[in-house]
Amino acid sequence: MNILILGSGGREHALAWAVKQNPRCDRLIVAPGNAGIAALAECAALDIMDGAAVVEFCSANTIDFVIVGPEAPLAAGVADATRAAGILTFGPSAAAARIEASKAFTKELCDAAGADTAAYARFTEAEPARAYIRAQGAPIVVKADGLAAGKGVIVALTEDEALAAIDDMFGGEFGAAGAEVVIEEFMEGEEASYFILTDGTTCLPIGTAQDHKRAFDGDAGPNTGGMGAYSPAPVLEGAVAQRALDGIVIPCMRELARRGTPYQGVIYAGLMIKDGVPRLVEYNARFGDPEAQVLMMRLGAQALDLMLACADGTLAEAQVNWADDHALTVVMAARGYPGTYEKGSEIRGLDALEETSRQMVFHAGTAQKDGRIVAVGGRVLNVTARGATLAEAQADAYRMVDAIDWPEGFARRDIGWRAV
Ligand code: ATP
Repeated sequence: MNILILGSGGREHALAWAVKQNPRCDRLIVAPGNAGIAALAECAALDIMDGAAVVEFCSANTIDFVIVGPEAPLAAGVADATRAAGILTFGPSAAAARIEASKAFTKELCDAAGADTAAYARFTEAEPARAYIRAQGAPIVVKADGLAAGKGVIVALTEDEALAAIDDMFGGEFGAAGAEVVIEEFMEGEEASYFILTDGTTCLPIGTAQDHKRAFDGDAGPNTGGMGAYSPAPVLEGAVAQRALDGIVIPCMRELARRGTPYQGVIYAGLMIKDGVPRLVEYNARFGDPEAQVLMMRLGAQALDLMLACADGTLAEAQVNWADDHALTVVMAARGYPGTYEKGSEIRGLDALEETSRQMVFHAGTAQKDGRIVAVGGRVLNVTARGATLAEAQADAYRMVDAIDWPEGFARRDIGWRAV
């Protein structure tokens, strides 16, 4: 079959890598793709936010299956457009993707489903929000309702910080995303991510992961899109995972279906775990980046079969064949990230690295220029390895990091420390 993947990051490189290994995949196109993806698939220029353009592209290229990588096209209804055109699609409708696009929507969904999450209140005006903060005290969490690229959440350790966040949000710092604000109870614990496929009826877990959000070793420095990840997450195994599935994810999916907006795609549940009890922090409507890199490394070719079962409603008959393995990915970023950084520096040494089912360098912000690979983004490479133990995967990933010659880049040296 002919397959189109939408996106251009490390997540989409990992998805393309897994899909390409499956014999059911004939032709693979990634739009817009990147320099690493170009080594294994065709890359096409296409406005992935434009549903009509995507549908037109699919018919011109006889695409049988579309996989939507990032959240923005989902929120814009691209999966609705392709499904309406009769194209098999992996990714939720815009209505179901609201679980990521609106925090207020998700809090209310959790209430209706009886799913455990932080206590909260919603505000569209500053004064009652301030009064609520004064009444609750700190620590407390202030969130802009809409998508704000991970920047719309302030975990305030003092009341003053929370009040300042209210001023910023209602002052227009986050544009339309901040027109409504959610104020939440601060939850203590350890965070982990749970990935579940659903076709609207069946829920099938496909793995757990933990990521490292801070820029520097020891979880220091500013927040980033993620500097590394590993799977599985020891804190979210066995009974804890089952409790998250039965008590949080399944009831929420049932509630969405009951409302006539069944969710179809991957659910990414961000959970806070304390004393073995998981509580929901947030839902995302797509694979995480860099979590997809470790999940795809572990799933390999079967990822395509699972995503197809999800799209055509046959997930009840599907199963995951687990190898008892671990995967870890280290993000190499341009110096200065997540602040300002230079673009255009050359990355050497990639050709000498063997790429196998146990180790891969997934590209994020790269481009090809005069036959060389150059950095064009903040997060640039995802150096990923799989092993019988997490320590083995970690050692292999860092061996590859050390073989990459890119003085303008940096990586954390402690990815996986909590679990190793
Ligand atoms: P991203 O998608 O980048 O994770 P987001 O903007 O969707 O971010 P959330 O995931 O809701 O925001 O929050 C970001 C981070 O803030 C969480 O990963 C968590 O560390 C922290 N956080 C959010 N809500 C709470 C809470 N109620 N208690 C404690 N920490 C929280």
